[in-house]
Amino acid sequence: MNASNKKIIIAIDGYSSSGKSTLAKEIAKLLNYKYIDSGAMYRAVTLFALRNSAINPVNHEVDEEKLKSLVDHIQINFKYNTEKQRQETFLNHENVEDEIREMTVSENVSFISKIAFVRKKMVKFQQEMGAEKGIVMDGRDIGTVVFPNAELKIFMNANAEVRAERRYKELKDKNIDVSFDEILKNVKKRDHIDETRTESPLKKAPDAVELDNSQMNRQEQLDWIVGLVKEKLN
Ligand code: C5P
Repeated sequence: MNASNKKIIIAIDGYSSSGKSTLAKEIAKLLNYKYIDSGAMYRAVTLFALRNSAINPVNHEVDEEKLKSLVDHIQINFKYNTEKQRQETFLNHENVEDEIREMTVSENVSFISKIAFVRKKMVKFQQEMGAEKGIVMDGRDIGTVVFPNAELKIFMNANAEVRAERRYKELKDKNIDVSFDEILKNVKKRDHIDETRTESPLKKAPDAVELDNSQMNRQEQLDWIVGLVKEKLN
């Protein structure tokens, strides 16, 4: 598809479980671009905070002083697992890909991701990864804060029930035991916290193209984004 040598940045933001990562991975593969799941980074920091008692998993209170003193000891990397055909997240060289998707992390992540010094560190790292372009990154603030000059910005949404259903299936496939109601509640709660936080709230960049994929399958979404990418590469 990319006959020219032009490389662009594709920023995909949107609500929890709106299918951002599926679409991001597929378009990155087609273009032979790097794919970065920025949510995995906030999840990894959350796991680190939970393990180091820097967040109370019951009332979600964060010990910011403690987290601040530890934050420079957090190293996050991504590696592609050819056997499982997926990208995996490493926290201080430990593969945490499955653990960061568990409910305990989902229930706490929005309380960690709203902290300014956490965001500052993650954003710096994300910008470094995109310095040479040829990258697709998904998240909440990619088009607004991380790459405000991204050539293509997408903002994704779907109704909350559809999103919760997708997440439910995903977790069931991984044999993670959760109820649909629990997921729906979590998706809505995270959206609310992510949208109303003062630090880089989830919002559509003025120049982002909106996609509501409630009624669309994967192929339709891919065809849609391929059309947009072609325009940008011409
Ligand atoms: O994308 P995912 O649902 O895995 O993200 C988990 C959480 O990480 C979000 O609910 C949000 O609080 C946070 N996040 C963020 N900024 C990003 C990506 C994710 O605040 N760029």
